[in-house]
Amino acid sequence: MEYTGGCLCGGTRYVLKTAPFALGDCHCIDCRRSAGAPYVTWGSVLRKDLRIKGQLRRVPYAGRIRSFAACCGTHLFFEDTENSEAIDVTIASLDDPAPFAPAKAIFLEDKLPRVALNEAIPSFPKIPQPSK
Ligand SMILES: [Zn+2]
Ligand SMILES: [Zn+2]
Repeated sequence: MEYTGGCLCGGTRYVLKTAPFALGDCHCIDCRRSAGAPYVTWGSVLRKDLRIKGQLRRVPYAGRIRSFAACCGTHLFFEDTENSEAIDVTIASLDDPAPFAPAKAIFLEDKLPRVALNEAIPSFPKIPQPSK
């Protein structure tokens, strides 16, 4: 099963070779501002499972890399580093985002008061501590 997505104008397209995992809503200020939206739903894929057709504008910010479609500016990807194993994808840029509901909400400390949380999923002030 493959999952396709892309930017607003269609100039940049991508294919996920596997379903995105670690689905979550991020309410942090950086996501809000970069997307021009109250929060962003992210999913992760392994870098090897992502194919991109089109040009990206890669913006290093706050020690991470955000990628936007060079054609029209749609926010598409987020990486910890240029060679991190996984890369995050904006779920709303998928052609069919409907199956990929968030399983957590993070960075509640930055959440806008008017945004109602889904009480059925866990939420965290920042990010959940990795369980080891
Ligand atoms: Zn575009
Ligand atoms: Zn964020």
